[in-house]
Amino acid sequence: DHLGPTVTVGEILVEIMATSIGEGFRQPLDLVGPYPSGAPAIFTDQCARIGGSAAIVGAVGADDFGRLNVDRLARDGADVSAIAVVPDYPTGSAFVRYRADGSRDFVYNIATSAAARFGWSEAVATLVAKAGHLHVMGSALSMPSAVAVIDRAVEIVKERGGTLSFDPNLRKELRYDAETERRFSELVAMADLLLPSGEELERAAGVPGREAAIEKLLAMGIPEIALKEGARGASVFTADAEPLHVAAFAVTEVDPTGAGDCFGGAYVACRRLGSGIEEALTYACAAGARNVTVRGPMEGAGTRDELDAFIAATQRAAP
Ligand code: ATP
Ligand code: MG
Repeated sequence: DHLGPTVTVGEILVEIMATSIGEGFRQPLDLVGPYPSGAPAIFTDQCARIGGSAAIVGAVGADDFGRLNVDRLARDGADVSAIAVVPDYPTGSAFVRYRADGSRDFVYNIATSAAARFGWSEAVATLVAKAGHLHVMGSALSMPSAVAVIDRAVEIVKERGGTLSFDPNLRKELRYDAETERRFSELVAMADLLLPSGEELERAAGVPGREAAIEKLLAMGIPEIALKEGARGASVFTADAEPLHVAAFAVTEVDPTGAGDCFGGAYVACRRLGSGIEEALTYACAAGARNVTVRGPMEGAGTRDELDAFIAATQRAAP
């Protein structure tokens, strides 16, 4: 952590969710929200709450949805100096409704909202110049403004001896063009830490099969892979040590959104603060599990004390 804050780049949104299970939004529904959201924002909030030094580059509108986000991030200790407040565009939003099978329907306003309207600025340059770590979310790669900032930031952070983590965070709804695919592969190859979940592992490696994918990624020189396995916990793979698995904490899932981002925020914060892999993985699993017990994408993000209490009080799920 001594080298400077963990910086993330990307969408800052509010989420508004249907209170009923069902399909879509084609009739009047009871909704609840706004909740602060956006994968990079959730990551940043959890990273800061657990005691990591964290900052986000992004943009909000000059409206209450924007203020809700900036106030939450600032309250939780994140550096919000590189969040632009954009006049004339509303803060980005995602309306979400869960289906009975657990899948989700979305109405997004991201690309045409304030969320996509930021770029390289004085404030961003100042922040990146002192960053010690850059965390990239695959979801941000569909925003040209984010890509432009990420491209410059990767170079600067690596140049000053900082590190890079990459959460592929793929959206099945999004098709990536050839340029984005190329950038995706580059980020995988450059990452000091990869944080895939499910099929993202094989996608990142470009080979089928879990074992083969891990072997290929380690052979490519990626030092550390933290694989998120949902209600089965998580595993970390490195070139020179045995794989380490941590069982999930047994919780009742109320809202799965944000688990992966909280996992990542806690894992990166702990590793950068000097934790070994097992301790970081335990906090990360606790952060993900605690977050799914609360409605709202980052409402369950925990402080160090809250996560310690959660770990002490919660049984491990059967492996
Ligand atoms: P997201 O849906 O946010 O993209 P993800 O697919 O990236 O999530 P998950 O594996 O779903 O990541 O969740 C991250 C971590 O959070 C898991 O590795 C696990 O430790 C914890 N977690 C998630 N869901 C549960 C659950 N239902 N019970 C216990 N722990 C969970
Ligand atoms: Mg994910």
